[in-house]
Amino acid sequence: MFETLSERLGGILDKLTRRGALTEADVGEAMREVRRALLEADVALDVVRSFTDRVRSRAVGADVVRSVTPGQMVVKIVHDELVEMLGAEAQPIDLNAPAPVPIMMVGLQGSGKTTTTAKIARRLKERDKKKVLMASLDVRRPAAQEQLRILGQQNGVDTLPIVAGESPTEIAKRALQAARLGGFDVVILDTAGRIHLDEPLMVEMAEVKRIAAPHEILLVADALTGQDAVTLARAFDERVGITGIVLTRMDGDGRGGAALSMRAVTGKPIKLVGTGEKADALEDFHPGRIANRILGMGDIVSLVEKAAANIDAEKAAKMAEKMRKGAFDLDDLADQLKQMTKLGGMSGMLSMMPGVAKMKKQLDGLDLDDRLLKRQIAIISSMTRDERRNPDVLKASRKKRIAAGSGTRVEDVNRLLKMHRQMADMMKAMGKGKGGLFGGMMGK
Ligand code: GDP
Repeated sequence: MFETLSERLGGILDKLTRRGALTEADVGEAMREVRRALLEADVALDVVRSFTDRVRSRAVGADVVRSVTPGQMVVKIVHDELVEMLGAEAQPIDLNAPAPVPIMMVGLQGSGKTTTTAKIARRLKERDKKKVLMASLDVRRPAAQEQLRILGQQNGVDTLPIVAGESPTEIAKRALQAARLGGFDVVILDTAGRIHLDEPLMVEMAEVKRIAAPHEILLVADALTGQDAVTLARAFDERVGITGIVLTRMDGDGRGGAALSMRAVTGKPIKLVGTGEKADALEDFHPGRIANRILGMGDIVSLVEKAAANIDAEKAAKMAEKMRKGAFDLDDLADQLKQMTKLGGMSGMLSMMPGVAKMKKQLDGLDLDDRLLKRQIAIISSMTRDERRNPDVLKASRKKRIAAGSGTRVEDVNRLLKMHRQMADMMKAMGKGKGGLFGGMMGK
């Protein structure tokens, strides 16, 4: 997610933060580069323009050039404006309605609509303990209803029994009734897609909407289609009305143009993102965390949540508490590294950890694979308990011994200590709450 954009923006902003003083011309030059980077990421032109205008006027107005850390001030402004552009607050699916709450899924064929329907159902069942019924209203593609039935079976979610020859609205009616009678909390209607957006599709959607009175109408759109996804969302919203968007294939989207423009162009929130083909590859869309990720500041909260979902909930909760308190020692780091080896998906996990995104560049040439993780774990295991709790006590002679003991070099030991320090600082700052990350960085 966002790798290409993140690298570009990271480079531009790094240059700014490395400078001691900034002139207005420096800010102007950086904004021109930011503008270019966003356009290359396929962000809508209007959105780019208003974004850079806002950042520039805030940066020039806010005594930035006279402040002690002007570069970091600019980074903070860019961050804040990114969050704003992404929609400020996370907007989860709204289930605040009498049960069974109807949710209607709309979108083009191949966008990932059926897969996403099953992902949402599974998550509502497992995380929110809801009883969910799914129904496919796709009578055009013969295998569509069967596909949903199989997904339901795989994920332990009920699907409406298939009756041949029914129209989409008839299926919708039967689904609502079955959900009422069966005591379901939520009923998800997976509507038919088309290759292109066309009039018959819109008419069908409007009909289903009238019958089902859905509480949420979620458009599923493929992030890889960039601005087409945004245009599609606008068209669906104008004709049918949508309450939110699910962007799929974010796992393959390095640029992020659709994700970044969607909110500003359509006024509708991205509620969820699909990050893979598997049934659990679905994430909430948190503007703040996404902005952190784009700017290479890591996304430790998502990381902890992911770990909690995949591994040991109790351990993860303890870890989160420690992070909040800023008591993150080397034993905790070793735990994290071990979990990462277990979790696989190395580069994905790494990109979520503060400081690591940048280190990755410095380590270019060195392979960032499991061997590196194992080496780091070996370094930590070669320390005494006191050293792991309080690495500041480590003297040069001990570092040499630790390097020898773990089959590494003193540089490796230092690099690990630096990574730990950066992570611990970042976590402490984040623990202070909103804006704490930057508050910490700017020494407030
Ligand atoms: P539909 O025609 O819109 O219902 O699309 P499907 O749900 O059948 O999905 C089409 C293909 O996209 C399938 O192979 C899915 O596994 C894949 N897919 C769906 N969502 C994602 C995602 O978030 N990431 C990736 N990589 N693949 C996805």
